Amino acid sequence: MSGPVVGPLVVPVAGPVAGSVVSAPNLAGIELMRRGDRAGEERCVLVHGFGLRDAPWPDGVALVRQIHSDIVVDAGAEDADPEVIRKNEPICEGDALITDRPESLIGIKTADCVPILLADPATGAVGAVHAGWRGTAQHIVAGTVREMSARWGVRPENLRAAIGPAIGVCCYQVGVEVARRFGIECSGSVHLDLAKINHQQLVQMGVSNVWVSGECTFCSPLRFYSFRREREQAGRMLSYIGWQKHDGRAF
Ligand SMILES: [Zn+2]
Repeated sequence: MSGPVVGPLVVPVAGPVAGSVVSAPNLAGIELMRRGDRAGEERCVLVHGFGLRDAPWPDGVALVRQIHSDIVVDAGAEDADPEVIRKNEPICEGDALITDRPESLIGIKTADCVPILLADPATGAVGAVHAGWRGTAQHIVAGTVREMSARWGVRPENLRAAIGPAIGVCCYQVGVEVARRFGIECSGSVHLDLAKINHQQLVQMGVSNVWVSGECTFCSPLRFYSFRREREQAGRMLSYIGWQKHDGRAF
């Protein structure tokens, strides 16, 4: 298990996750958290990571069939077949997953789109968001925070958020129609900063504790898949978050 991850650091996270071993490094941006300090409670530690190109996927991550929507799915409420989750198959359609259940990993897949992970130390609720330009235009990250608040009383000011590697403003050129969705009028094309727009949406929701990777998936072919660069050949990186049982000794 990794040591504490505090503040805007990029550190390797390695260790057993839900029955498999993540030996390749992932990126982590949220500080180490634990639950279950009271007597009789199950002790859990928060595990999370933004996948790299060659990072193996842990098993048992609840996923959704991503459709560039603003649909937020409560993984615990879906009553999904455990076998489907064990095989990392989608439990339904959507573009963000949330849960407040311990020992439940949720994740989203990206290759240029913005992956965002959320964790609330007060309630234990976590979220994983897939925000491409369509999801960003539909404020999916704000919708996810709102849903976590409505279901479990999550207070935005308590939330920790981490924005993972995505196609950067350096490489993300869009045309007139997409630009217009973000209130930008232009005659040719313009560069969009999707990570920054999602960051702004989080701040507008009252989430101020935000770590930003700042890495561009298009610029770093050895580290990341990029749909724009590799087209149909592009694989996907898994970003995941959740609580894992822990014996409490190795912090
Ligand atoms: Zn770039």
